[in-house]
Amino acid sequence: MLFQPPLPAKYDDYSRDELVDRIRRCKADLGGRLVILGHHYQDDDVIQFADFTGDSLKLSQIAAEQRQAEFVVFCGVHFMAESADILTANGVKVVLPDLSAGCSMADMAEIEQLEEAWDALVDMAGSTVIPITYVNSTAAIKAFCGRHGGACCTSGNAKRVLEWALSQGEKVLFLPDQHLGRNTAYAMGYSLDEMVVYDPKRRDGGLAADRIREARFYLWNGHCSVHQLFTPEDADEIRRLDDGYSIMVHPECSWGVVQKADCVGSTEGIIKTVSESAPGSKWAIGTEIHLVNRLANEHRDKVVRSLARVQCLCTTMYRIDMKHLLCSLEALVAGRIVNQILVDPETSRYAQIALDRMLSHAAPQPAPAD
Ligand code: SF4
Repeated sequence: MLFQPPLPAKYDDYSRDELVDRIRRCKADLGGRLVILGHHYQDDDVIQFADFTGDSLKLSQIAAEQRQAEFVVFCGVHFMAESADILTANGVKVVLPDLSAGCSMADMAEIEQLEEAWDALVDMAGSTVIPITYVNSTAAIKAFCGRHGGACCTSGNAKRVLEWALSQGEKVLFLPDQHLGRNTAYAMGYSLDEMVVYDPKRRDGGLAADRIREARFYLWNGHCSVHQLFTPEDADEIRRLDDGYSIMVHPECSWGVVQKADCVGSTEGIIKTVSESAPGSKWAIGTEIHLVNRLANEHRDKVVRSLARVQCLCTTMYRIDMKHLLCSLEALVAGRIVNQILVDPETSRYAQIALDRMLSHAAPQPAPAD
C-alpha cells in the first residue's frame, strides 16, 4: 500500500456543504479538461460527482475512450488507476485522490512471487501454461501475463477469456482470485479435481509434483477480503427467513456460496439483473454494501438487501472521500498534480497487451454458475 500524506488541516474544517460547493466549483473551473470516474463501490458522497460510473471493465473502457480530457480523477483503487494510466492516451494524467486506496486482493500477488511460481510450474506442468490475471492485480502482474502469452479478465468476461486461454494452451495459471477462477472453470464444466490452489508462500506452491502434472487450473491462493465474508450459512439463513428472496452473488464469493445462490453476476450484471427484475422482486445480494444500498434506494418497488448480516465494506475504496477528492481537484485548479499514478513504459507496454486481449473478449456473457 502506498503512503498517503495527511491532508492539510483546512479540509477537516470544511462543512459537508462547503465540501460539496468547493468540489462543484473545481469541476466547473476545470470543465472539459477533467473527467471523474467512480467505481460502483464508492460512497454516494463521492459518486454524486462522477461523470461516469462503472465496474472495473466499464471504467477501463471509458478511460481508454478519453481523448479530450487532460486529467482523469479515478475514484476507485490503485490497480484501477494504473489500468487507466495504461489505457489512456499519452498526456492524460490519472490521479488517485487517496494513495492508500489499494486492494487487498491485488496485494496478494507480488511480481517476485509470480516469477518464482512460473519457473516452478512451467518446469513441472508437462504442457503449455497460459497465465490469466483478474484485472484486480498490479500493473507488473498484468505485464507478466502480457509478456508470457496471457491476458487479463474481469468478472464479466472471465469465461470468454478462459475459453480463449484454453485454445492457446492446455493449462491455466489464474491469479490473484482463486474464487473467480474456480467458479468460472466449474461453470465451464471442469471438475474441482482439475483445479489446485497454488500457495505462493510455500515451496512449489505447497503442491506435490504429480498434482502439478495432473491439474488443468492452477488457482493462486488469493481472495477478496470483502466477498470472502459471505458464507453458505448466510444463504441458508435467508432461505429460512423468507424463501421469496432470490440470492445473487458476485463470483469473487467462495464456491460454497455460489452453489447456494440462484444466480451469479459481475458488478454490472448484478445492477442489470436487479434493474430489469419485476416490481415486488426480492433480492439478497452478496457483494459490497455501498452497491447493495444504492440498489435498494434506486429500486424502492423491490426489496434489496445484503446476503450477510455483517457489513461487507471495501474499506480501501472507502478511503476516497469528499475531502481527498477536493484536495486533488484544488491542486489541479492551482496547476499542480498530486497523487498522479504513473506506470513505467516497459510495464505499460506489456500490460496493455494483456488488457487489449481482455477488451477484445469484453462482450457480456451469461453468469458463471446459475
Ligand atoms: S472489493 Fe475486494 S477486490 Fe474489490 S477493491 Fe475491494 S478488496 Fe479489492
